[in-house]
Amino acid sequence: CAKVIDGKLVAKQIREEIAIEIAKMKDAIGVVPGLAVILVGSRKDSQTYVRNKKKACEAVGIKSYEVNLPEDTSEDEVLKHIATFNGDPSVHGILVQLPLPHHMNDENILNAVSIEKDVDGFHPLNIGRLAMQGRDPFFVPCTPKGCMELLHRYGVEIKGKRAVVIGRSNIVGMPAALLLQKANATVSIVHSKTKNPEEITRQADIVIAAVGVANLVRGSWIKPGASIIDVGINPVDDPESPRGYRLVGDVCYEEASKVAGAITPVPGGVGPMTIAMLLSNTLESAKRIHNFK
Ligand code: NAD
Repeated sequence: CAKVIDGKLVAKQIREEIAIEIAKMKDAIGVVPGLAVILVGSRKDSQTYVRNKKKACEAVGIKSYEVNLPEDTSEDEVLKHIATFNGDPSVHGILVQLPLPHHMNDENILNAVSIEKDVDGFHPLNIGRLAMQGRDPFFVPCTPKGCMELLHRYGVEIKGKRAVVIGRSNIVGMPAALLLQKANATVSIVHSKTKNPEEITRQADIVIAAVGVANLVRGSWIKPGASIIDVGINPVDDPESPRGYRLVGDVCYEEASKVAGAITPVPGGVGPMTIAMLLSNTLESAKRIHNFK
């Protein structure tokens, strides 16, 4: 039976480490990291994400700045807020909560964030540097960074191993594949047009699944002993749950945990790591800007 990769526990440890470093930084140079979050519109899920990020910041000593704008805000207005935060020395990280309303051009908005404050790691220059050998981005996107951190903290060897990433989105799959490749794995990407995904996935020592299809990856897709990182968060009907649904991953946990060597649960795997990595990126940014080692 596979070892459980406990993201909740690791995320807690990381938040504790971050809080200690922030206290040291405050003592030494009188600076605390600052994170600015811009939310446009009133999507319930986005509001919840922003609230959780704010709470997590407060718990470790990061100062958070929040701008809430109505759905019909113009792109120029959002760009103005970004410019203000770019120039504000107490802000070390800027995050624009996605998705943006349809009338806005995501690319214009993401391009406007200073690459040195792009704690989400979505600026094209940061992604470009992630793709290049011998270059490093200022920031790595939080969810894939969390996946790598779990592999490192559980001692999973990456160098020379075969890895398969299922999904190629800009925010998870693609950067996850780039990171594995930078860590010297041999990487294949499986996506919606891939033929024989099962056969390809079965070659992998490491699988990162970021698809958004409940239980897509079955036990038969898994190489015995492989390490499985399941990013998917999918609601499925469950009349026994008080909410009427429960969350499952992209990997059929029941089957895969009988074959794999290690596996993340859903919930409690990658999910808690994403916010922990946002805090880590914000601290890293403040340390870099203030040249604090
Ligand atoms: P997305 O919809 O942007 O991308 C999905 C990708 O999966 C696409 O590249 C597509 O080609 C691929 N795909 C679709 N159907 C497929 C199939 N049948 N076989 C193989 N590949 C297929 O999604 P996303 O934003 O990358 O998110 C993926 C999942 O991860 C979702 O469930 C999302 O909720 C979850 N997620 C979790 C976190 C977290 O913090 N844990 C963060 C982001 C996303």
